[in-house]
Amino acid sequence: MSTIKIHDREFVKSIPSEEIAARVREVAGRINKDYAGKRPLLLGVLNGCFMFVSDLMKNLEIECEVSFVKFSSYQGTETTGAVKQVIGLSESIEGRDVIIVEDIVDTGLTMHEMLAMLSESKPASLEIASLFVKPARLRVPVKVKYSAFEIPDRFIVGYGLDYDSLGRNLPDVYDVKE
Ligand code: 5GP
Repeated sequence: MSTIKIHDREFVKSIPSEEIAARVREVAGRINKDYAGKRPLLLGVLNGCFMFVSDLMKNLEIECEVSFVKFSSYQGTETTGAVKQVIGLSESIEGRDVIIVEDIVDTGLTMHEMLAMLSESKPASLEIASLFVKPARLRVPVKVKYSAFEIPDRFIVGYGLDYDSLGRNLPDVYDVKE
């Protein structure tokens, strides 16, 4: 068992890179089938998605495009409170087959809001591919059509996911040690 330390916490290796690679290939295989003859736009949600998007795309054999967005959360000026926005979407998604590519769906609130915002731009179809989903944590119904792993309610790092900005470079995934 391999343990690492990031900032003040210890983490234990839980999913080796080979297993991640195998699951990502499976997800890509499903997308290859479902989108045969189409040209989906993969819309990666930064920062956590970058390794997943990269490995997913390398396994796609269909025509596909990629773009990235960020979901910013900032304080509104007056009574609005926390306002969220999708930033960085430069192209029109109207009439496009869009696949949002996310690192992890936890409460589902981020994806719920993103789906609502992107739907306004009238894509032909809109689905979610998420590397991880924590089903026990979902607070709003969000349909994740393509998920590589369903995981328990534990904080994870690695393969693009961070703990306070560190750990994104790890090829394997680690669980926080309680
Ligand atoms: P949600 O809106 O679904 O609650 O939150 C999704 C976001 O929370 C993810 O994109 C990710 O940035 C962060 N997040 C949720 N769970 C984890 C986790 O276990 N590890 C890390 N590193 N980030 C997480």
